[in-house]
Amino acid sequence: MQTTTRVAVIGGGVVGASVLYHLTKLGWSDVMLIERSELTSGSTWHAAGGFHTLNGDTNMAALQGYTIRLYKVLEAITGMSCGLHHVGGITLADNRDRFDMLLAERAKHRFMGLETEIVTPDEIARIAPVTNIDGIIGGLYDPLDGHLDPSGTTHAYAKAARMGGATIQTHTMVTETNQRPDGTWDVVTDKGTIHAEHIVNAGGLWAREVGAMAGIYFPLHPMEHQYIVTEEVPMIADIVNAGGEHPHVMDPAGESYLRQEGRGLCIGFYEQRCRPWAVNGTPWTFGHELLPDDFDKIEDSIAFAYKRFPALETAGVKSVIHGPFTFAPDGNPLVGPVPGVRNYWSACGVMAGFSQGGGVGLTLAQWMIEGEPERDVMAMDVARFGDWISPGYTLPKVIENYQKRFSVSYPNEELPAARPNRTTPMYDIFSDMGAVWGQQYGLEVVNYFAQEGEPSFETPSFRRSDAFDATAREVRGVRGGVGINEVHNFGKYRVTGPRARAWLDRIMAGRVPQPGRLSLTPMLSDKGKLIGDFTISCLSAEEFQLTASYGSQNYHFRRFSSHLEDGVHVENISDKRTGFQIAGPKARAVLAACTRTDVSDMKFRDVRRMTVGMTDCIVQRVSYTGDLGYEIYCDPMGQRALWWTLWAAGQPHGMVPFGMRAMMSLRLDKHFGSWMAEFSPDYTAAETGLDRFIDFKKGTDFIGRAAAEAERVRGTTRRLVALAVDADDADVHGYEPIWLDGEVVGFCTSGGYSHHTGTSIAQGFLPRQAVSDGLKVEIEILGQMRPATVTLTPPFDADGARMRG
Ligand SMILES: Cc1cc2nc3c(=O)[nH]c(=O)nc-3n(C[C@H](O)[C@H](O)[C@H](O)COP(=O)(O)OP(=O)(O)OC[C@H]3O[C@@H](n4cnc5c(N)ncnc54)[C@H](O)[C@@H]3O)c2cc1C
Repeated sequence: MQTTTRVAVIGGGVVGASVLYHLTKLGWSDVMLIERSELTSGSTWHAAGGFHTLNGDTNMAALQGYTIRLYKVLEAITGMSCGLHHVGGITLADNRDRFDMLLAERAKHRFMGLETEIVTPDEIARIAPVTNIDGIIGGLYDPLDGHLDPSGTTHAYAKAARMGGATIQTHTMVTETNQRPDGTWDVVTDKGTIHAEHIVNAGGLWAREVGAMAGIYFPLHPMEHQYIVTEEVPMIADIVNAGGEHPHVMDPAGESYLRQEGRGLCIGFYEQRCRPWAVNGTPWTFGHELLPDDFDKIEDSIAFAYKRFPALETAGVKSVIHGPFTFAPDGNPLVGPVPGVRNYWSACGVMAGFSQGGGVGLTLAQWMIEGEPERDVMAMDVARFGDWISPGYTLPKVIENYQKRFSVSYPNEELPAARPNRTTPMYDIFSDMGAVWGQQYGLEVVNYFAQEGEPSFETPSFRRSDAFDATAREVRGVRGGVGINEVHNFGKYRVTGPRARAWLDRIMAGRVPQPGRLSLTPMLSDKGKLIGDFTISCLSAEEFQLTASYGSQNYHFRRFSSHLEDGVHVENISDKRTGFQIAGPKARAVLAACTRTDVSDMKFRDVRRMTVGMTDCIVQRVSYTGDLGYEIYCDPMGQRALWWTLWAAGQPHGMVPFGMRAMMSLRLDKHFGSWMAEFSPDYTAAETGLDRFIDFKKGTDFIGRAAAEAERVRGTTRRLVALAVDADDADVHGYEPIWLDGEVVGFCTSGGYSHHTGTSIAQGFLPRQAVSDGLKVEIEILGQMRPATVTLTPPFDADGARMRG
């Protein structure tokens, strides 16, 4: 057996094989796959082999499109068959909300280059005749949908990898992974030890156990899953005899997917009475066996399927496939460098290996070889969960995800499982005040405060929700007086040491402020992509506080850790420093009333330490509401005291508590962008306008400088703009196409209703040369073309008089 390799990929399922192939494709040939049995010996061998592009996350959908298109390439490279059946597929909608979701998906597909189309019930009956269209209002047809042979496809990946120089070592069990001081790994197997520079965990059903060998907890869990293959069905036999093939049909109402199998049908279910498998760990003895048939748990689903697909009722059952496969808490894969563990990469939690395996392999290979993936992959980044993640959280979330696999996903939906999990000292006080909670990165965050007569649950919707009036009231409270909310959901980092300033100058593209001041700065990747949108506050010559997105903590901290140097210490203090934001024209009066420090001369972007009431705080004059405002940070132990101080001082000024719904409306008044909407690794600083915060004059060779300078010379082809939308009852949420002269020329990044100005506002990208103030375009919202106007000046406080005054 070979005993050294650059990369040891552990696991020979479809995902490990794809990773191995993509590593060779991108130029690394000294790579090795280690499989304890034969290839496909986990979930892979018993998969139904279906593939589709539909995914709520646009980048995931694009990677699924890549995966599907790859199969023909693989066949051509290897001369092997993947058993491809590109039969197309229809997702059915039997109510308005499901149909709205399909319309929104279709709209996104326009600028992604996916040729999906909305089909009527009559068209469905014609294209997919096994479907009973009673109650169906429409569907989404995707010509790319189809199925393949799972084993043939995995072996095709493996052959292509071997052709690129890779080694595949089957019947070899990894028993330990031990890191050497230089960061390389000893991969101990039952056939000897392999010294590898990098490890990729593609252990599938055993990814938890493989991770534990290195002391890593991977948040994933296997679920049982069952599909049934029927004997011959006359209607299908007729189609086959006529030389045709029946397309796939996804019926979300029945939580089922159906396709032709030979001259019969194959149907699988995501049943509500689902069961997690191997809660305490996957047995090493499990391999090529199936779980016992269990018709009881899919009884309701079968009854529903008989109505939707009447031909099933009389079809004999040929075989039942019942096996386990893994899910992460949100159903997306866990991919990328594991935070805090050098040279350890994740390629696990892939629940749809035949839709996603190619994209996962490509992404990981780009990350390992080129330093970063070509697109924003936050939706599947292993860093999207924090250190707070635990098996106790993962299990209920995975069950919820399985049950909601076919449910409508609403933009304003808050999922209930495993909550409340993480709370601040304000939780009960805010609950008593009517807080309606959302969740962000495991943390409870107030969406809005319901007063008497207002809904204490926000009904999920694609249209304006029933939180509209409460949000409007909170916005009025801020703009007309003063509002207060928590600043717990910022990611916060403390950077200290004699080299702290120099380090920040290198890591961040913007200007590092002087003591007592703060600055805004993008953080760029080596290739000049936006990987952070930070506020740097200089507390003293050797102490800084950084604030950024709460949900990107592990993502950002992984970056910081990999660039650390002597003389600088970085600590994630996101949950160690909390506090409040007060904003609105009366904010200064409120702050002045509760501190002995003179705040009258505190300028916009000033930072000061002061005692507020009894609590020592860091106060900075800045607010994402775009109003006169202050962020007041303190130790969580003092947060309740700080609250009672500010709340009492706010009463004479009519202080209102406000939540994230109001915050996101207020920021639109100023056209402020938001992380992972306007600002993400898909975009550059120059495209989004954040280049105005890049300090090109500083002498430092900050990361991404060369790329940013080159872009400055070259210019960008697209530009982020704001648009006033003549909306009906639905605002922009993100990824709606923007039309100009009958063509899709751009897409939206986010939007919503600006309650202060009474306008529906969107933000999005348009071709730079097309942009002018007042340009008339159309935005496709839920299948309707809505007129929109490019607006280059924000409708509130355009000259900054209020924010800076
Ligand atoms: C009933 C059913 C139907 C499905 N239908 C579909 C479908 O239609 N479409 C779709 O896209 N997906 C489907 N799936 C899901 C699909 O099977 C998985 O997404 C996919 O197989 C995951 O592949 P993987 O490579 O990540 O993991 P696995 O297939 O589990 O592979 C992991 C491999 O790692 C090896 N391994 C683990 N530990 C070690 C070790 N210590 N040393 C060496 N080797 C090790 C194992 O032996 C195994 O071969 C279905 C799943 C089930 C159960």
